[in-house]
Amino acid sequence: MDIKITKATQLKTKPDDTKLGFGTIFTDHMFNMDYNPDEGWHNPRIEPFGPFTLSPATMVLHYGQAVFEGLKAYRNASGNIQLFRPERNFSRSNKSCRLMCIPEVDEDFALKALKELLTVEKDWVPSAPGTSLYIRPTIISTDAFLGVRASHTYRFFIILSPVGAYYPEGFKPVKIWVSAHHVRAVPGGVGEAKTPGNYAASLYAAEKAHQHGYTQVLWLDGVERRYVEEVGAMNIFFFIKGELVTPELTGSILPGVTRDSVIELAGHWNIPCAERKITITEVIEAQKEDPQFEVFGTGTAAVISPVGHIKYGDIEVTVNNNEVGPMTQKFYDALTDIQYGRAEDPMSWVEPVV
Ligand SMILES: *Cc1c(COP(=O)(O)O)cnc(C)c1O
Repeated sequence: MDIKITKATQLKTKPDDTKLGFGTIFTDHMFNMDYNPDEGWHNPRIEPFGPFTLSPATMVLHYGQAVFEGLKAYRNASGNIQLFRPERNFSRSNKSCRLMCIPEVDEDFALKALKELLTVEKDWVPSAPGTSLYIRPTIISTDAFLGVRASHTYRFFIILSPVGAYYPEGFKPVKIWVSAHHVRAVPGGVGEAKTPGNYAASLYAAEKAHQHGYTQVLWLDGVERRYVEEVGAMNIFFFIKGELVTPELTGSILPGVTRDSVIELAGHWNIPCAERKITITEVIEAQKEDPQFEVFGTGTAAVISPVGHIKYGDIEVTVNNNEVGPMTQKFYDALTDIQYGRAEDPMSWVEPVV
């Protein structure tokens, strides 16, 4: 399939690289492609960024049948643009599609479309330290129909947004609040899919955490409310007695690309790493018993997010004196050095674009 390119007649003024926030500025072009049962995915095109015209009856607006992804393009020291493990995002997108009854998209084609879009938009990839171009591939159901069933038609689109350094004031630990009443996902549900409803379902607890002065929610499992699952929209790692521990993927946890990269790097460095169930009680005890205890979240936006406080009911623990621990720092440095091309790429994770 050839991708038709229609260039914008007027280009936007690019923002100051040093003053970028997150997710408010969009580039000049977007990628669009449509699906119907007769033609399958068809009409792939790069065109000016702009609003969609949708019937108020459009299925995604009522029943949330949609999936999305999040990844970044980085400008390296030579000025070239590169991606980090993008094939993982497109294969995970297809996994989300299967759970949401959305027709899959050819993974090689999706990556080719993204690379073409990035080539058109290459001047939008910022170069100030810590900045990047955030990429949001999304699929929405587009039948104008109020009955509950899988849609017959879909739109796949990719939009791009230049984003600032996640830690403009330095790499600092966050405070997390353990949600004892609210759960994000349950076994047999769709917690392992990147689908909008999971995020809508997380907002109430996130608001409560904010009201109590905490940045993120630490989610426990939906059945026993004992096992740690994720932190906000990130996976979570503990460094306990010389071993990394992260919750195993049981179906209610999103399989993060950053999570997988930490596990692989740990293996590469011979740091023991276990994917297993871990209770919140074990976490609280680890803090008492192990002076080297560390906790961090992993996700594309922040890469690594150190945790400095955990509040669980009446218990409040401070992790590593609310400082960034050496293990947390090591993974942050290693991953960002690979992403920005400052270090060797021993796992061949970097995908050059242009
Ligand atoms: C996207 C996401 C993550 C992190 O995944 P990455 O691929 O590392 O960005 C973790 N948990 C949830 C719920 C997510 O949506």
